Amino acid sequence: MSIAYLNGSFLPLEEARVSVLDRGFVFGDGVYEVIPVFGRTIVRLGAHLARLQDSLSAIYMDNPHTDAEWTAIVEGLLERNPEGEDRSVYIQVTRGVAPRDHFIPKDIEPTVFAMCRPIPKRDVSGGVSAITHEDIRWQYCNIKAITLLPSVLVREEARRRDGSVEAILIRDGLVTEGAASNVFVVQDGVACTPPKSHRLLPGITRDLVVDLLREGGVPCEEKDVPESMLRGAAEVWLTSSTMGIAPVTRLDGRPVGSGTPGEVWRRADALYQAFKKQPVNN
Ligand code: PMP
Repeated sequence: MSIAYLNGSFLPLEEARVSVLDRGFVFGDGVYEVIPVFGRTIVRLGAHLARLQDSLSAIYMDNPHTDAEWTAIVEGLLERNPEGEDRSVYIQVTRGVAPRDHFIPKDIEPTVFAMCRPIPKRDVSGGVSAITHEDIRWQYCNIKAITLLPSVLVREEARRRDGSVEAILIRDGLVTEGAASNVFVVQDGVACTPPKSHRLLPGITRDLVVDLLREGGVPCEEKDVPESMLRGAAEVWLTSSTMGIAPVTRLDGRPVGSGTPGEVWRRADALYQAFKKQPVNN
């Protein structure tokens, strides 16, 4: 049975309950994190906790825990749940329970929830398909907010249109990110990904891939990616904690480059797979 964490206690996931007046339920007033754990290695925990802090600050919430306390919660969940190959720890902090009113109540206790799940084994090495979609989300995409309805709708559109796994979003003619991933494109052997801004989530895997490419001597640039560059790219990749680096081989029903995973992706993925095997937290 899966063991979760809720407001100070570890308990079976099925028994975890929150009030219907929780502002997370009523307003989507909260933020979250997803931390991958490969074997015993918690990936970039410090970066995940820093992003959680940024998300909380951006919605005027105090952090309910110190980094040491968060680490104890994450490790507590890992100890209590069956060891698997790859797992993820999901953390959600909502504003808490209060009478329904937009104004942020004072002196309210946040709701802190966390759970541990296996990362489903999905072989993306043969390539995945994606669609493009107008970025219909809001202007604070750097916040990892639980309010995900636009992302739910565009990913569903991707699946319904042609069984695609992701929607690559475009705002003002520029690629921002996927609905649940960051985007890299390869042009003339250079891997490019849009610079961090309020238009996209600062993905931890994105940063990791940028670091791995640079350390591995693969040219990589953080720069604007116009829609035309996406459409003419030799390679397109998606990155996320639960997917790794997925080569997009079909975009809007047409082949990307040769229609097979590219040579630069092969190098990036080799670096990433080697990173995953490191036995220490990093
Ligand atoms: N962008 C969005 C909108 C996401 O939801 C995610 C996570 N699923 C990512 C990017 C990738 O972030 P990370 O590498 O930290 O998983």
